[in-house]
Amino acid sequence: MIENLTKDGKCVLCPRNCGADREKGKGFCGMRAGVRISRVGFHEWEEPCISYGKGSGTVFFAGCNLKCVYCQNYEISFGKKGRDVSEKTLEEEILKLQESGASNINFVTPTHYSDALLRVLERIKGKLKIPVIYNCGGYEKREAVKALSDYIDVFLPDIKYFSPELSKKYSFAEDYFKAASDALDEMYKCKGYAEYDGDGHIKKGVLTRHLVLPSAYKDSIKILDYILENYDAKKFALSIVSQYFPTENCKKYPELCRRVTTLEYNKVVEHAENKGFENVYVQEKSSADEKYVPDFDY
Ligand code: SF4
Repeated sequence: MIENLTKDGKCVLCPRNCGADREKGKGFCGMRAGVRISRVGFHEWEEPCISYGKGSGTVFFAGCNLKCVYCQNYEISFGKKGRDVSEKTLEEEILKLQESGASNINFVTPTHYSDALLRVLERIKGKLKIPVIYNCGGYEKREAVKALSDYIDVFLPDIKYFSPELSKKYSFAEDYFKAASDALDEMYKCKGYAEYDGDGHIKKGVLTRHLVLPSAYKDSIKILDYILENYDAKKFALSIVSQYFPTENCKKYPELCRRVTTLEYNKVVEHAENKGFENVYVQEKSSADEKYVPDFDY
């Protein structure tokens, strides 16, 4: 089904629908056809239900279909740092992570490679014994989510903004909430609420992340209220992320040139707690530090 999203050589893999011919040039995501990897390795700093044992087996991809102005991984989202690889190499890297003892396979920002990922996962699906996680910015197409759900155990989307003004200003995507909430709906239809093993490690379902931004906690609260209206708050797995720190790229946006205050972060967390969310992962504010950004050394 996903092949239809790239028919006639025009890429419409993601809601950006930029229609680039990626054989000849780049799309909004910055990437041509093929796959570019920025990092492969164990990652210890995801939520505890994902990073456990030896760590989450992450594959970070270069480029991004959102390009948020405050991106903490700007070296790879904007800078596209990494190495072009064949699908065969991607396949080998995934299997090597599993053989090395990764707790899961965690594809980070894979949206603009989802067609290649589907082909790779189809070839190795009989060999993968650990959960496969699709870790994305939330700006996904329903059809893509549906196609991926045959191979993905856990969807790990962001839900970044409720306001179209904010999503336009910071991620050039006025339709972000419409697309992300549709995609989230499809993720839940396909995988359901998060399921864990006896040690609290996620095995299947959806875990949604929300990064609290400076001066935008009211938007965060609107996102929580949307979830309350549409899902069972007791079962909805939510990670409220506090790791925002300003990068060089933020200079044009004075309101983004500071960290999130404890007051702002607590307002969001308290709203979640007061409204009955029971499966919430809350981050230590000390994790808002550039040192937690991995080396993109592939
Ligand atoms: S994946 Fe990239 S090229 Fe394709 S529609 Fe999205 S932004 Fe455009």
